[in-house]
Amino acid sequence: MNRERMQIHLDPQLCRQCGGLCCQGHPGCWADPQRFAALFFAGHLPSLEKLRTRIADLGLQLRDYSGVPVPAPRSNEQGCVFLGKRGCRLDEEQRPCQCLGLIPELETLTSGEIHCRLPGKLSYGTIRANWQQAWNHQGQRDAVPDT
Ligand code: SF4
Ligand code: SF4
Repeated sequence: MNRERMQIHLDPQLCRQCGGLCCQGHPGCWADPQRFAALFFAGHLPSLEKLRTRIADLGLQLRDYSGVPVPAPRSNEQGCVFLGKRGCRLDEEQRPCQCLGLIPELETLTSGEIHCRLPGKLSYGTIRANWQQAWNHQGQRDAVPDT
């Protein structure tokens, strides 16, 4: 993983004490299509159609970002399917970009509500634009509406 390009703000001690409120409530997604392709498809992003057939086997789902599909972990009533008793079961290298980039805040511990925040590069709009561009590049223009 190119740590210079990635935004990584892990605070294992704080997050261990928290127990993963973010993972229970708002599992992160992969913001960078190239990184996602490198992690799961040897660097070659499959077509959206092909990804739809593989996504469940990977333990993932496609989230709808205002018409743009964005890969993320599957969720159930407890939250992210990768959340275990000892925290995230994915290696750090594999975790979604938003999970690595979320900036832990002590106030989350003291209040019991999420005050951790995402940097602008991992915002909804930026992620949507990244994936819209990637899918358009894959020839999926008909399936992905323009902004
Ligand atoms: S909610 Fe914040 S403090 Fe809690 S695990 Fe997530 S990033 Fe860490
Ligand atoms: S992938 Fe890991 S860090 Fe991200 S939401 Fe799921 S359990 Fe939490």
